[in-house]
Amino acid sequence: MVIELITVGTEILLGNIVNTNAQFLAQKCASLGYSVFYQSTVGDNEERLSQQLTMALSRSDVVILSGGLGPTEDDLTKETVAKICHTPLVEDEHTKKRIKIYFSKTGRKPSDNNWKQALIPDGAIVLDNDNGTAPGIIVELNGKSIILLPGPPNELIPMVNDKVAPYLEKKIPHTILSAMVKICGIGESKVEMMIRDLIDQQTNPTIATYAKTGEVHVRITASAKTEKDAKKMIKPMIEELRKRFGKAIYTIKESETLEQVVVKMLQKRGFTICTAESCTGGMLSSRFINVPGASDVFKIGFVTYSNKAKRKFIDVNRDTLKKYGAVSKETAKEMAKGAVFKTDADVSLAITGIAGPDGGTKEKPVGTVFIGCYFADSVTVREYHFIGDRNKIRELTVVNALDLLRRCMLEEDEEKNYG
Ligand code: ATP
Repeated sequence: MVIELITVGTEILLGNIVNTNAQFLAQKCASLGYSVFYQSTVGDNEERLSQQLTMALSRSDVVILSGGLGPTEDDLTKETVAKICHTPLVEDEHTKKRIKIYFSKTGRKPSDNNWKQALIPDGAIVLDNDNGTAPGIIVELNGKSIILLPGPPNELIPMVNDKVAPYLEKKIPHTILSAMVKICGIGESKVEMMIRDLIDQQTNPTIATYAKTGEVHVRITASAKTEKDAKKMIKPMIEELRKRFGKAIYTIKESETLEQVVVKMLQKRGFTICTAESCTGGMLSSRFINVPGASDVFKIGFVTYSNKAKRKFIDVNRDTLKKYGAVSKETAKEMAKGAVFKTDADVSLAITGIAGPDGGTKEKPVGTVFIGCYFADSVTVREYHFIGDRNKIRELTVVNALDLLRRCMLEEDEEKNYG
């Protein structure tokens, strides 16, 4: 079933408001498993709206319009739809009553033109508006549906969730199933490039990418008669993504987070962990503690921001700090080692970096970060160059630290498997 969106309003065309309704509607349709093939915006102009609607009805099964249902002269969506469908507008008693109640509740008097909102194309389905006066309207015409929704997002969103979504699901009964493939350690543009062909060819299942800090999530949504059929359609796509992204995929469970995966892997091994953080100031330990049951694995988190703290609490050598600097491979290595020896944990993650905005140099610009991971009696240190503001750099650091440990554990698994 093909859906088309038309947002109505001159303010959108002028850039006075951001078209969040289009974004919401498109995402909603995708999550319900429907294809949105066309989107357009038309000003408050009857002729152009009429042209656009005629075109939409010639190529789509469902046309959703938002905006222009208000009481004023320039609100003409409903009138235009009625004309195109050759249907008269008739007063809807039920809506009239609701408008009366709405105004009496807010202590205001309806003006004459408010009653215009009780006019409905004859035979149309009325969707009550619980947050305003303009009802939503569905006109069914030759097997197609025209759905009219009020412009204000606080009216449109609940109406779509509570009334339009069930209507669409009933119109074409089907099962929607989706899987989320979560990828870490590869940037969004690279991920998109690696699956460009899949995105371009998509019909059913659909595939969409979502950029998160340090991660990219790929949603696969299949629409089928039964859940079993939908599962069958999703499976080969997941396999294809596994082939392309390998270890970079950390989960295919929608609700699972990176820290949950890492904690689970540590629990499976019976390992404990400690952290030593400089520029992230405890953000990494906080991510571990996000996970219920983290106490099984998380021992202690050092926030060693100053050089003195690095020496005093986790035994970083004074000469190392002097010779290589606090932000260096060598310091990260000693932080990771020192933290483990101080706590008797099995593994550790250590972070030292320059989150900015000050403190960067030519050799070590803002965004330079070293992450050390003590694992299986050796320390792996990786150097990163992140781009972003202070907070973004710190968040990216934490994600990459978790990922570094995850990959160390995966490598160990592989070595064991190869014997
Ligand atoms: P009302 O009954 O309030 O007049 P309406 O259905 O006539 O609603 P419009 O007059 O087109 O809708 O828009 C009312 C307000 O709703 C706009 O000023 C804007 O704040 C918001 N709005 C309308 N369309 C959109 C959109 N596409 N995206 C985000 N907000 C929108």
